Amino acid sequence: MKSTMMDFPLTLTHILDHAGTLFGGAEIVSRLPDKSLHRYTYADFYRRTRALAEALQRAGLQPGDRVATLMWNHYVHLETYFGVPAAGGILHTVNLRLHPNDLSYILNHAEDRFLVIDDTLLPILERVKDRVKIERVLVAPFTGKPVPPGTTSYEELLKTATGTFRSPPIEEDDAAGLCYTSGTTGRPKGVLYSHRSLVLHTLVGALPGGIGIAESDTILPVVPMFHVNAWGIPFIATMIGAKQVFPGPHLDPESLLDLFERERVTVTAGVPTIWMGILDALDKNPKRWRLTPGMRMLVGGSAAPEALIRGFDRHGLRVVHAWGMTETSPLGTVSALKRHLEELPEKERYEIRAKQGFAAPFVELRAVGESGEIPWDGKALGELQIRGPWVAASYYRMPEAGDRWTEDGWFRTGDVVTIDPEGYVKIVDRTKDLIKSGGEWISSVDLENALMAHPAVKEAAVIAMANEKWGERPLAVIVPKDGLGVTAEELRAFLEPNFAKWWLPDAIVFTKEIPRTATGKFSKLQLREQYANYRPPPSDLPA
Ligand code: ADP
Repeated sequence: MKSTMMDFPLTLTHILDHAGTLFGGAEIVSRLPDKSLHRYTYADFYRRTRALAEALQRAGLQPGDRVATLMWNHYVHLETYFGVPAAGGILHTVNLRLHPNDLSYILNHAEDRFLVIDDTLLPILERVKDRVKIERVLVAPFTGKPVPPGTTSYEELLKTATGTFRSPPIEEDDAAGLCYTSGTTGRPKGVLYSHRSLVLHTLVGALPGGIGIAESDTILPVVPMFHVNAWGIPFIATMIGAKQVFPGPHLDPESLLDLFERERVTVTAGVPTIWMGILDALDKNPKRWRLTPGMRMLVGGSAAPEALIRGFDRHGLRVVHAWGMTETSPLGTVSALKRHLEELPEKERYEIRAKQGFAAPFVELRAVGESGEIPWDGKALGELQIRGPWVAASYYRMPEAGDRWTEDGWFRTGDVVTIDPEGYVKIVDRTKDLIKSGGEWISSVDLENALMAHPAVKEAAVIAMANEKWGERPLAVIVPKDGLGVTAEELRAFLEPNFAKWWLPDAIVFTKEIPRTATGKFSKLQLREQYANYRPPPSDLPA
């Protein structure tokens, strides 16, 4: 007999049963392609999810088999989040915005046996179907059209279940989920999540220092369910029994604001580009929507500019800045203001809230510069390294990518940071986005954040352009707010008081749209290609 506690595996099936048993009446609302709202309860969700798990077993799913999804955020996707791991399978969420080459690479690399896909997304499959081997395609029928020959309707599959689901034995270290990084450099890399890592991430994510939700909350993840498990929100919300709202394919500001208001959303999450559009809509028409006062918006994936945080404060909505990666499940840091910092002057409070935050419990951080670990003084620069129970130990089937881990077992994030004495991390840049001018570093993120504080600027991205004399020089790409004019000279003058002269962009160009990555961030890669041949007016900077 053990002298301490019972062996009790940390598995997602426990979260599923807990939710189904205790929160049967809680609601799950999904926006469908035709914009109507589908509503059902946790009791319905529980019944259908167990039916899915049983039906997958009957269809031949073996423990460890991968089941891919190509879906927007909605209740069927939620059912696969729990149904696939409950059947012993691995849920592989696939980014539907990927290029067909990456998509086919990922489906083949993962050797997915099954695929669950929205019927509205079938054209994406069509583009790669000759290049991939998927045994069974399950189509979620939202449009009412018959599913194509050779595929099975998801609803018909559920009917094959008899209501006698038995979960196979699952160890907590068994894999439950798989997600690929979007691969801005090199091949996409897979990260395999275990039941244990997902459960621990869920427990800590539910705490006030994480996403921090209660059963009485209504949560709407704008972040796609194919982007690092929508940051863990579906698992967290289900465990807590919160009302869940899913936007389906409708991610434009009007549709989201309408859903926030209609369903009285209290917590939401997404990348900054989404919130920039929403803030713009609110600023133009502040009285149009009645949102829940104090609605919390978790913002991460790229830096949340201070101007964005201040902007939402004006509307009584609270931005919470967080940092993470596919490799870290993603919760790494959250920028909650510690109690004694609430006393600081407003300007300093905003500076802290614009940082990416301090480590979540069980996450350990350090930053390493050229001469070893850097001091936590808020000034020294180093590469952020991380370890913890939900940090990947390797990439899936890619031993050659082992150099991302240090010899003493830390994961190298590729993010350059400072860490202040309170432990708040500030992402200065991604290593590959830093601009090296005359041997000194310029942070593209600092310039972008400052530019986005200008009242006429909607979006700003800063990239390096090659320069014979200095190696690289900054180029700023600006999207002005509708109907507002601003010149390059005005923007330079706006930056001047806060930056050394040699930091100021050599060129400022205006455009209608900044290209986005598959996860909705500004695509610096595409911008660099777009402006590769751009020749700015001659400049003698840096002085
Ligand atoms: P990708 O962007 O490559 O698709 P991830 O979503 O895993 O993959 O991105 C992780 C990266 O996103 C981090 O390494 C970091 O550079 C950036 N990132 C995430 N959150 C933030 C944040 N709050 N501020 C700045 N950068 C962030």
